[in-house]
Amino acid sequence: MSSLAYHRPDTIPQAVSLLAADPSARVLAGGTDLLIQIRSGRIAPANVIDIKRIRGLIGVRVERDAFIIGAATPCTALKADSGLMSAWPGVVEAANLIGSVQVRNRATIAGNICNASPAADAVPALIAAGATCRIAGPDGERIAAIEDVATGPGRTSLKPGEFVVDIRLAARPAGGGDAYLRLIPRTEMDIAVVGAGAALVLAADGICTAARIALGAVAPTALLVPAAGAALIGTKLDAAALDAMAAAVRSAARPIDDKRGQAAYRIEMTGVLAKRVVAMARQRAEERA
Ligand SMILES: Cc1cc2nc3c(=O)[nH]c(=O)nc-3n(C[C@H](O)[C@H](O)[C@H](O)COP(=O)(O)OP(=O)(O)OC[C@H]3O[C@@H](n4cnc5c(N)ncnc54)[C@H](O)[C@@H]3O)c2cc1C
Repeated sequence: MSSLAYHRPDTIPQAVSLLAADPSARVLAGGTDLLIQIRSGRIAPANVIDIKRIRGLIGVRVERDAFIIGAATPCTALKADSGLMSAWPGVVEAANLIGSVQVRNRATIAGNICNASPAADAVPALIAAGATCRIAGPDGERIAAIEDVATGPGRTSLKPGEFVVDIRLAARPAGGGDAYLRLIPRTEMDIAVVGAGAALVLAADGICTAARIALGAVAPTALLVPAAGAALIGTKLDAAALDAMAAAVRSAARPIDDKRGQAAYRIEMTGVLAKRVVAMARQRAEERA
């Protein structure tokens, strides 16, 4: 049996050094994916780097109107932040669909992103919201769009020694609203068959001036569907625009058949869920305009 060393660095550079020294090393945030993968033998890292002790990595703060969510912040803490909840309810709700209360007391959205499951719930909501993440590594820091982090199931664009330090969300634009919905066979504690996130901006006359639509569980990674957003921009979200948006998401989806749903069913439900999530985001945008 191989041994596993547990590290609890105090600083970002210490964490980067530990990660850079061992290609098998893994970051431990909430551990709700990592520990299961280690126990099942799917992965066998020689070193685990717990990032929860690093100053500034737990909690939500506001910097120049943007929300900065530390990479070790549990999902339940997002719900407790009234400013974040009011600005980006879709993101907070998506994070709080993950698992159970016990799971969410540990699980982080950074872990959800870096675990790179195609069905990760927080990811389509973050992509729709235009979130980015700050990544630290041996060459310094860089900012990446959330849609650029996962490159396939269980695979990311993080380079050796890099880890996500925080997630960044801009202030909610005037007339902005977001939402996330997922389809699961059970009422909770299940993996999405389809997930859809939407973020819209409506002008005072009801014209949609910005729209981002993202999908989960229908491709090897969560997808941003620019054609779906483009179908809504410049319209009052009338039936023709919504049909064009639904057609765009259906054509972007390339799901697999599995025990949770056949590909044809998933494609059909992608359009249904996208229309519902746009209606939710629209209602929020109108209420907060
Ligand atoms: C019972 C149960 C139910 C679940 N239900 C859901 C669900 O409904 N929806 C859903 O989306 N997920 C679900 N999950 C999966 C899991 O809870 C989430 O993916 C969670 O967000 C992972 O976060 P974490 O902090 O626990 O990550 P960890 O387990 O700590 O890490 C996950 C992976 O990401 C890497 N990582 C973590 N943080 C960073 C970082 N900052 N930088 C670089 N790499 C990092 C780790 O090395 C590891 O490879 C469930 C899990 C369980 C056990």
